[in-house]
Amino acid sequence: MSEDCIFCKIAAGEIPSNKVYEDGEVYAFHDIHPAAPVHFMIVPKEHIASLAHAHARHEALLGRILLLAPILAKGQGLGGGFRTIINTGRGGGQEVMHLHVHILGGGAPRPM
Ligand code: 5GP
Ligand code: ZN
Repeated sequence: MSEDCIFCKIAAGEIPSNKVYEDGEVYAFHDIHPAAPVHFMIVPKEHIASLAHAHARHEALLGRILLLAPILAKGQGLGGGFRTIINTGRGGGQEVMHLHVHILGGGAPRPM
């Protein structure tokens, strides 16, 4: 846990959030400023600043997060599909420096 990290505090239940899912390693919650009709994020409970800060020992954890994405998305009504975004670093538009996977859906996605 990083003392000054807002997502660490959310994952620890110290800051309220609209929770989607929780287990021992992972926490998922709705984005406070949704960019789509459904927009939530999946984060590891361990503080990993970004994808660029992940190590080989995080391989299983990252795999679990990706495998959870379609399961949680379906639970949020996104059985027909969803967009997955991981912003990495300032150059990637990352604002909160705690690794998070955005899951967006429920609207008409812009082509990429
Ligand atoms: P990033 O730009 O770092 O990939 O995404 C950070 C996301 O976190 C943004 O979409 C922003 O709306 C969301 N966010 C920032 N602070 C909070 C918060 O306190 N609670 C929740 N639920 N979302 C937050
Ligand atoms: Zn953190």
